[in-house]
Amino acid sequence: MELGNAISILVLGFLVLVFGSILRRRASDQLQFWFLGWVFSLVHLLTGQLGPMIGMANQITSSLSSSTNILAGLCFIVAVVNTCANYRQRVCLAAAAGVPALLYSSAVSWHVTAKPLLSAIIASGLGIIFRVLWSLNRRFSRDLLYTAAACCALAFLVVTSIARGEFVGGIYAIQAGLFIFSGVLFCRRFPRWSIGPITTTIGFVAWGGSLLGIGSEKYGLSNAFMFGSAWNAPVYVVALGMILTVLEEQIQEAAEAGRRLAHQAHHDALTGLPNRVLLEDRLSQALARARRTKTRAAVMCIDLDRFKQVNDTFGHHVGDLFLKSVVSRLNSRIRESDTLARSGGDEFTVVSSDFEAPSVPARIAENLLETLQEPLMIQGCPLPATACIGIATFPDDAKDAEGLVRAADQAMYRAKNRGRNLYECFSAEARDALDIQNHLRKAIDEGGFEIVYQPQFFKNGDLACVEALLRFRHPTLGKIPPSRFIPIAEESGLIVAIGDWVLRQVCCQSVKWRNCSGISLKVAINVSALQFNRIDFADNVAKILAETGADPSFVELELTEGLVMNNVEDSSRQMKSLKLLGIQIAVDDFGTGYSSLSYLHRLPIDTLKIDRSFVEKIADLGGTRPIVETIMSLARSLGMRTVAEGVETQAQLDIIRELDCDFIQGFLFSHPVSGPEVLELLTTSYRAGSLCPSTP
Ligand code: C2E
Ligand code: MG
Ligand code: MG
Repeated sequence: MELGNAISILVLGFLVLVFGSILRRRASDQLQFWFLGWVFSLVHLLTGQLGPMIGMANQITSSLSSSTNILAGLCFIVAVVNTCANYRQRVCLAAAAGVPALLYSSAVSWHVTAKPLLSAIIASGLGIIFRVLWSLNRRFSRDLLYTAAACCALAFLVVTSIARGEFVGGIYAIQAGLFIFSGVLFCRRFPRWSIGPITTTIGFVAWGGSLLGIGSEKYGLSNAFMFGSAWNAPVYVVALGMILTVLEEQIQEAAEAGRRLAHQAHHDALTGLPNRVLLEDRLSQALARARRTKTRAAVMCIDLDRFKQVNDTFGHHVGDLFLKSVVSRLNSRIRESDTLARSGGDEFTVVSSDFEAPSVPARIAENLLETLQEPLMIQGCPLPATACIGIATFPDDAKDAEGLVRAADQAMYRAKNRGRNLYECFSAEARDALDIQNHLRKAIDEGGFEIVYQPQFFKNGDLACVEALLRFRHPTLGKIPPSRFIPIAEESGLIVAIGDWVLRQVCCQSVKWRNCSGISLKVAINVSALQFNRIDFADNVAKILAETGADPSFVELELTEGLVMNNVEDSSRQMKSLKLLGIQIAVDDFGTGYSSLSYLHRLPIDTLKIDRSFVEKIADLGGTRPIVETIMSLARSLGMRTVAEGVETQAQLDIIRELDCDFIQGFLFSHPVSGPEVLELLTTSYRAGSLCPSTP
């Protein structure tokens, strides 16, 4: 055996191993057929070289050699042909093209040279291929036409060879055609012009060309398997091209996976909108642009009204569809250069830039609200979608991204408080509120709060309880009343941390009073809805009680009527867990909200605090006395105690006493006082055993 041929066998063997190992790691139809193709190529070479050496009959050697080369070419074709959708179809096509080609080459190898028979084999083969191709696709495609044209050209070449009596030339023509067509399909399969596909295509064309060259030079069958070393160069080029193609595919897949990951990290999975991370980036870009071009930019916070209701009533699937429809409506109304992002469950944010008139964001908000006017059709069911929008504009309302988002958020809360389907621009008042909010946040960490205590008295004048009332001093605005800062703390969520602080402070204070006076005094603490609605509220209260050593039976939590009645089931559950701790519960400002009497008796309420607005007009002619009387008899029949809030005059006190109210709280007796003053009051009140009204 020539050295060149021995090297070729070794190289092909190595290629089989290489493609085998690639196939093990990346199983695909394409690689499977490439692997098979190289196995057939190796067998082709081995038969050609070893057949005569081991004394194999010439016909068998030539038949085997040409068949395996035909099979190799077929494998390379079906590996990349686009007309096949799966493995089975590829095998089908290979069989359709392979059987006539193999029949022809075997017949010629066995010296069967009847021209009509050979022509019939080729013609019937052509028919079978067309039939199979059509059954695979059932429609005309470019690939189908190329394949059909290539088959016709090949059949024509073979038939003319037969006509000229050059039967072996027909075998070469078939092999050459298969490899050249492999090249054509390969570059169609990889339309990107990169080094891998280009190398493979050139290799295949050269491979086919070399076979044509041998075929036309020498028609002797023995030369068909004379894989002279020079002729093998195209084979190596094809192998190199295929390996490069696989590597390129791997690099491409890795890049694609990276792109997918980056997209996932920056986009919301449900709506495909930018998420908070990307929103921050877009916003900072918009602000940088606005600074550079001296234009305005706006942030709009959009919160859907009653989305929770849609989710709870129709389920999460409908909720998801609902959100997607909302997004497509909103997207249709914003400019391409603007950003619509999903910033929370039912919250969206629009960043708009490159405008000058301050009225632009309001117009966009009007458009957005208008596009939601028409109910959304979700699974054939019309669902109304409205939203509240808060707008903040750069540089008017804030100078940085964080401030702008916070301002827009606050404006949105204000819109929500006003009702539904509204937008609100950040205003001067809102700016003050934001300033207060910033200082509240600071005060949580650095101090700035104070707690005062307003006493409540028994009818007989003994001190019964004190209500803890929070005070906040703003560094420039001075004392700010709770009616102003509590809603701001609630809107921003800061009330949760502030409420915890109050609870802890008051518990510590009550322990101090007990230790100093030997008397336990009941303390009433106001609780906000946001605090109360947290799942861990009762646990948190229990923790604070345990840590401070306060006696739960001397702690009363004041909840507002609206809070309790908003969700009676949840309130009842929460109240029961608090009662289990031994805490008492009062309903504050009773009569100002809406109470369903049918629910009231099912809640573990100890005290009703009659709102100051009723006490204020209790002594007036045609005033609120009948209402107070009704509330008291209601409380009595439900076994609850009553507190009259805001008693300021003797006339009010007289009526309250006459109506037999349990406790009295008001400026007539005492303004809110400091902790040490309570201690003083505690000792004197108990020593004197009488009521000591203080002047307002
Ligand atoms: P509230 O719980 O109904 O507290 C009673 C309010 O009425 C207190 O106002 C008190 O100073 C005032 N008041 C008491 N007697 C009289 C009176 O005779 N005449 C008049 N004109 N007013 C009287 P304040 O301290 O301004 O508190 C207002 C509201 O702020 C409280 O109403 C409560 O809802 C809320 N609040 C106060 N501290 C806290 C707190 O620590 N947490 C929470 N969540 N809310 C608090
Ligand atoms: Mg209160
Ligand atoms: Mg009250």
